Amino acid sequence: MTFSPTLPTILSNTVLWTVIGVLIAALLLHVGIMFLRNRTLQNYRRLLYEDELTGLKRSIFLEQRFSDVLAEIDADVSFYYIDIDNFKNYNDLFGHHIANRLLKTFADRLKELSEPFGRVYRIHSDRFLIVHPTPENDEDRFGKELLKTAKAPFEIEGHEIKVTVSVGRYDIPPEKPRYHSSLFRSELALQEAKSLGKDQLASYTNRLKRQSKESFELFRIIKDALKKERFYLEFQPIVSVTEKKLKGLESLIRIHDKHRLHFPLDIIGYAERYNMIEEIDRYVVKRSLEAFKKFKSADVPFEFLSLNISVKEIHNPSFIDFLTEETAKHDIDPAAIVIEFTETTDPRGMEAEARFIERLRAQGFKVAIDDFGTGYSSLVRLSQNILDRIKVDKVFIHDIARKKRNRSLLESIVKLAENFQLEVIVEGVEKERDYEVVKRFGIQYAQGYYFHKPMRIGEIINMFANK
Ligand code: C2E
Ligand code: CA
Ligand code: CA
Repeated sequence: MTFSPTLPTILSNTVLWTVIGVLIAALLLHVGIMFLRNRTLQNYRRLLYEDELTGLKRSIFLEQRFSDVLAEIDADVSFYYIDIDNFKNYNDLFGHHIANRLLKTFADRLKELSEPFGRVYRIHSDRFLIVHPTPENDEDRFGKELLKTAKAPFEIEGHEIKVTVSVGRYDIPPEKPRYHSSLFRSELALQEAKSLGKDQLASYTNRLKRQSKESFELFRIIKDALKKERFYLEFQPIVSVTEKKLKGLESLIRIHDKHRLHFPLDIIGYAERYNMIEEIDRYVVKRSLEAFKKFKSADVPFEFLSLNISVKEIHNPSFIDFLTEETAKHDIDPAAIVIEFTETTDPRGMEAEARFIERLRAQGFKVAIDDFGTGYSSLVRLSQNILDRIKVDKVFIHDIARKKRNRSLLESIVKLAENFQLEVIVEGVEKERDYEVVKRFGIQYAQGYYFHKPMRIGEIINMFANK
């Protein structure tokens, strides 16, 4: 009997082989995908945990395996938070390539010094963290070695480079070892080391503990005050020197908190350091412009309103947009608004500051430098010819009738201002005799307790309206 396949048999065989083929292909594909996925995952983990430049593990590895690492070291441990002093300068001076090699060599030294008992991690850029057994006595040999090892010159591509480091130490309590708070505290100790003048080792002490508690308290108060509108503004009259007539009003922020009244300088300084200043500045703009309208509708005869804005805003392009929109919304002429700010203390910020002033003036606002004479760049700023006004700091006005030096200083400042066609305000006029002196100098505006103290909106209206 011969076998001759019928058409249905041929068809079903073909289907069978096709199905088997597809299954095998799918299996291979699956294996391939799994393989690739594993590789990707491994790569991803490597990228996540290992720092390519230095070959060290990154601190995120420690964060995720904190208890394992502690178990491995099997002793009471401390965090040493290390930062190379002025690292940016090395970048600027030698370029990234050499600076990177410096970091790598430095990391190698740290490793050599710390292992096998300790572990080294890179936090970011020039910041490193070492977990090391806590020193047994006051003499922190390991900490001192850290400072020393940085100082041995580095030979990199023909350059001899010397660096110093600052180190903050925190001894982790063995009964509750927590990663984040330990890192935070070692960083506070690092800041302390920096403020001691760098090239220093500092430990987290009770004093730092108290300070950080106070900082946290202030942080909470500011946040809370913003949320619950516990800030308010006072306004201090600015008068013409010749007639003592109201010309302007300066808005000054106040905070009312159940326990104590915080002075603005504390709040402002703190808010600047912890990135809350923009919220405050925006609050001041909004409320000041509202007050502007109230004063106008009550016929308070003032010509301009001065606002204090943090110099931090020079790096924040959206701030001027916000100010412009708010001013337009209230239908206020920007020329009636004077933005007062103190000069930047960072010489590298000068460019940004100049652009900030120019943008403000392009929108029609007036700009005054506050606390004139106390900043770094006062004279350079004048020569750029981009200001409207300077506000001479009250330290120069205080008791000017009795202080010849202050009179000479004021005289020079006024001459400078005349040369650059700037208006001058003096602040801090407290006594009649000081006013008499100020009058002799041909100054346009004055402000101080001798004329008026800062007042609430209602008081200003009661005092000046309809007169
Ligand atoms: P400033 O801008 O130089 O403000 C003038 C300060 O001198 C005010 O202190 C004012 O109350 C005070 N003052 C006025 N007349 C006299 C006087 O005759 N004698 C004396 N000794 N002082 C007088 P205040 O309100 O405590 O403000 C201190 C600083 O806080 C301000 O100095 C300013 O730098 C900052 N500040 C105040 N309000 C704000 C704000 O809304 N935003 C920002 N960014 N900073 C503000
Ligand atoms: Ca001011
Ligand atoms: Ca001042």
